[in-house]
Amino acid sequence: MLKKRVRFAAGLSLLCTFLAYSYGLAQLKVVTTITDLQSITKLIGGENADVFAIATGFQNPHFVDPKPSYILKLSRADVFVTVGLDLEIGWVPPLLNSARNSKIEKGGEGYVDASVNIPLLQVPTSASRGQGDIHVFGNPHYWLDPLNGKIIAKNIFEALVRVDPDHRSLYESNLKKFNATIDSKTKEWTEKMRPYAGTKIIAYHNEWPYFEQRFGLQIVDFLEPKPGIPPTPSQLLKVINEMKRDRIKIIIISPYFTTESADLVARNSGGKVVTLATSVGANDRVKTYYDLFDYNIAQLLEALK
Ligand SMILES: [Zn+2]
Repeated sequence: MLKKRVRFAAGLSLLCTFLAYSYGLAQLKVVTTITDLQSITKLIGGENADVFAIATGFQNPHFVDPKPSYILKLSRADVFVTVGLDLEIGWVPPLLNSARNSKIEKGGEGYVDASVNIPLLQVPTSASRGQGDIHVFGNPHYWLDPLNGKIIAKNIFEALVRVDPDHRSLYESNLKKFNATIDSKTKEWTEKMRPYAGTKIIAYHNEWPYFEQRFGLQIVDFLEPKPGIPPTPSQLLKVINEMKRDRIKIIIISPYFTTESADLVARNSGGKVVTLATSVGANDRVKTYYDLFDYNIAQLLEALK
């Protein structure tokens, strides 16, 4: 009788595992801070990863409201992926503290700082938040260079394998596919931008140095006098003069900034405002990490021609 019951229980548990797997219930639970990390994690984890992003693609990633519902997600997560470099300093530490999930805390096997091994730009000689600067460890908007996407993908891949070594070969083949796609698309994108190499551009916030370096643009000034400090009249006047002097025609802004100051500068300088996507989900044409560059390059080409 007992033997029968044991066999029944074993059979039941096997059945449960099978059902869970076939209905996707055995998926890894991943939480990422931004949608770009979510998109890359989905491309590497495939059907095996259920990936939630805390910030939307049209939200300023420096400033996100840490809602209680995110704590629940984090408390159940197997893997957590963050941009790092203090980009999310205002909202990730309180969320992680409340989630009490040692697996995804710094040093835990499910913790991923996506900035590891990224060749950083604009690293200050001394980290200081003086005058409100929010880029204290170097520019944190590194995902806007598609080749950095490959480094991010490798960091995520390593965590997936640590947490779920059984699916290593799946993650490995997805990583290979991702790298090959990025390589061939980056060739296309840089070809398209080549005729405009060296074009001077103005940006609202300093989030484009990686993009600029990859695609040969020259971002010469910002509407914000310092990263995180809203535009001031004197800064806008300085930019208007620069645009007139150097015949700069384009001001790029992100979906989460109001257009008033950019519009004012455009009106007074003869330039135009172009809203680019800084993250996946910025608008409904940007659904994946690949779309992010397809969209931005298309917008820029349209504005530059
Ligand atoms: Zn920034």
